[in-house]
Amino acid sequence: MARIVQKFGGTSVADTDRIKAVAQRVKAEVDAGHQVAVVLSAMSGVTNQLVDYVTKMSPLYDAREYDTVVASGEQITVGLLAIGLQDIGIQARSWLGWQVPIRTDGMHGKARIKAVETEEMERRLAASEVLVVAGFQGLGPRNRITTLGRGGSDTSAVALAAALKADRCDIYTDVDGVYTADPRIVTKARKLEKITYEEMLEMASVGAKVLQTRSVELAMKQKVRVQVRSSYSDEPGTLIVDEDEIVEHELVSGIAYSRDEAKITLVGVPDRPGIAAAIFGPLAETSINVDMIVQNVSHDGKTTDLTFTVTTADFDRTIAVLEGKKSELKYAKLLSDKNVAKISVIGVGMRSHAGIAQRMFMALAEKSINIQVISTSEIKVSVLIGEEYTELAVRALHTAYGLDAA
Ligand code: ADP
Ligand code: ASP
Ligand code: MG
Repeated sequence: MARIVQKFGGTSVADTDRIKAVAQRVKAEVDAGHQVAVVLSAMSGVTNQLVDYVTKMSPLYDAREYDTVVASGEQITVGLLAIGLQDIGIQARSWLGWQVPIRTDGMHGKARIKAVETEEMERRLAASEVLVVAGFQGLGPRNRITTLGRGGSDTSAVALAAALKADRCDIYTDVDGVYTADPRIVTKARKLEKITYEEMLEMASVGAKVLQTRSVELAMKQKVRVQVRSSYSDEPGTLIVDEDEIVEHELVSGIAYSRDEAKITLVGVPDRPGIAAAIFGPLAETSINVDMIVQNVSHDGKTTDLTFTVTTADFDRTIAVLEGKKSELKYAKLLSDKNVAKISVIGVGMRSHAGIAQRMFMALAEKSINIQVISTSEIKVSVLIGEEYTELAVRALHTAYGLDAA
């Protein structure tokens, strides 16, 4: 007997027929003698609709009320699945985040899980009851409902698997695993049998939305065995593993992209010690994450141009903060461009091989794609390019690194 967490994403619970199919998948594990906890997302499109309602009410909404509204999509699916399971003779009940409770901090809209109380859930599992837990939501300070950020039910599932010491955490989605690139834009992408936590973490953080970044972080820290697999087939999916579980490393394991980027340039900033801190300090205080940064000292050495990127969601606030500080920062001009995309090449093979970045620059040059900003980490190279070249760049790189399926 094993203990399993099964997570089903939005398209997997998109309507009542799909939820009935999910019930059958849960039943199969129960019939095999396993203890099962299920984590669900809202029906696909529902969370977007809820976010839209909130922003239509007020662009400057109260984040606590945003959470009250957007958490509601998951309440529907867990109730429906519990009914579906009972209907086929499986003992089950639904659990909302506050009922578990899944305790989080008070960062509404992107709360972090602090603790999952398992006593009652343990009792129910032991009594062969299936737990149907709402993903994406938790209970914050002062009994307020919180949500974990978009895509957060992956994190709910991993946190639950860790808290319940589950043997496996299966993430069921609309693709049958993690691919060398988003299969929606690269038809020649290949499914990976295994990927390391570290590579998956980088892939997710630079745009591969197949798993929420925090879920991978948590899985790595808590040693949760995660498998990404299809809701529609029984094919084995992709296992996320430690580095020593992979014998032959590819040089590059994947290409990812993000259109969710905006570029900002401060022109003619006086070049003095402390200027970077003066610019990025106020942004950090406003919880704005700055990603890629380049600084160019001008010929006279007195002023500098500073270019950096933020997510499109943070764009308006970034501009507001910087304009508010104009007299203090004394920059000449603020330029901005939302028409950019970040393309990244990821692979642990980079640690031991030179020339990976060069191959990227060559492949982009051959397609006449201009690189605006570059950043690197130990196992990743990212470039910022014009958004209209996104698909072209991802496909060209996929070919250049020999990743195309035969
Ligand atoms: P769910 O609703 O099940 O959580 P998501 O839409 O969040 O599903 O994640 C699955 C999607 O992630 C896929 O449909 C695919 O388009 C996208 N994706 C992006 N990069 C990759 C990748 N490297 N491998 C697999 N899927 C990817
Ligand atoms: N329903 C939430 C979202 O769309 C959480 C999730 O699907 O993981 O972001
Ligand atoms: Mg998702």
